[in-house]
Amino acid sequence: MYTGLTAEQRRLAQEVAEFAATRVRPGAEARSRDQVWDAGLWREFGARRWPGVVIPAAYGGLGGGALEHALIVEGISRVDASLGAALNLLQQTVMAILSFATEAQKARYLPLLADGRSYSITGITESDSGSKLEDMQTRAVRDGDGWVIDGCKTEVHIPEHVQICLVFAKTPSGIGAFLVDTGNPGFKVTGRRDIVGLRGLPMAAVAFERCRVPGDALLGAENGAYDVFFKSFDLTRIGNAAKCVGIADGALDDAIAYARRRRIGGNVVTDFQGLRWQIADLDTRVHGARALLQVAADEYTRTGRSTAASARAKLLASTTAMEAATVALQVTGSHGCFADNPFARYMMDAKVSQITGGTIEILRNAIARDRLGKPTAPTP
Ligand SMILES: Cc1cc2nc3c(=O)[nH]c(=O)nc-3n(C[C@H](O)[C@H](O)[C@H](O)COP(=O)(O)OP(=O)(O)OC[C@H]3O[C@@H](n4cnc5c(N)ncnc54)[C@H](O)[C@@H]3O)c2cc1C
Repeated sequence: MYTGLTAEQRRLAQEVAEFAATRVRPGAEARSRDQVWDAGLWREFGARRWPGVVIPAAYGGLGGGALEHALIVEGISRVDASLGAALNLLQQTVMAILSFATEAQKARYLPLLADGRSYSITGITESDSGSKLEDMQTRAVRDGDGWVIDGCKTEVHIPEHVQICLVFAKTPSGIGAFLVDTGNPGFKVTGRRDIVGLRGLPMAAVAFERCRVPGDALLGAENGAYDVFFKSFDLTRIGNAAKCVGIADGALDDAIAYARRRRIGGNVVTDFQGLRWQIADLDTRVHGARALLQVAADEYTRTGRSTAASARAKLLASTTAMEAATVALQVTGSHGCFADNPFARYMMDAKVSQITGGTIEILRNAIARDRLGKPTAPTP
């Protein structure tokens, strides 16, 4: 599947597959239906240090790289993409802290994130601001030696043991990224959101009301949001691609298992040529997406950045996941149309994965910029 894995990486993938089958798959339907976060299961991830896969051992993590992260996210997402997404989103804060935080912040937060005692969320999107960061209204102003943040973020994931929020806010000189402890009296959860996909990772809106943070809460420069953003998102786009490969391959596996058993006259469903070619095409795209994400993971591990390669990986993986989930439901006939089976969940998880962490249009823009350079004049 992946090429050139070390014995240790193969062992990790095997361990994840076994855990996914025995511990994650059984409750996935119910968690998604009821939008439930299973804190106990997260602590089991933590006991294995999977949330801390890229955190150095000195801070309690596994000390792995982007490929180890992808192996974990793909393996879990094959059965529950919400938890795969949770493992992935967390890395935005992890990379921001690893790359830009003080030693004291690293020592305080990274061990809590690595072993699952705590979780972290990212606040960028607002009611009137999505793909374009410059549209945001959340502001941070200097107040003595610290900052005061005011604004609302409308799409953050909020398991109950969240302790840190990585929030992006306008500063006098641009956009900055700040670490806010969610115990801060100025941080408030203002409401739960009822999302249609990745429902096992509950979503909420939050507000920052006269939220005072110390000076070192600012990560990087006052206008350094894009440095923090790309350092973090280049990794989580690889994770997003891995999540989508997991959805695609998991949906195909489940559909094939059903179709092999389903007799129609003298045939089973997997005998039909039209279906066989569809599966062959999707199988090829799954392998292609995995290869692209491995290229991106290698680049990220070597250089610390991988913007175009991770965009290519996520674009192919997420469009493949959407199509694979749609075909999987079609192949299983009415069986796939009932909510006690996972096929509708796979479809909705794939659809929202074409939006979260960079829409497929924004990914195409990044790839086109790499191939063509910037447009010669501003485009709408
Ligand atoms: C499951 C899920 C989880 C999420 N988690 C988080 C989170 O943890 N934290 C957070 O802050 N946000 C989160 N988001 C929000 C997500 O980051 C945004 O949905 C995303 O950035 C796109 O913004 P938007 O939805 O406002 O779309 P808009 O920016 O309003 O875009 C609308 C449409 O226009 C297209 N478009 C926009 N600009 C261009 C362009 N230049 N060229 C071509 N097409 C363009 C978009 O691709 C899209 O199709 C999450 C969203 C989902 C669905």
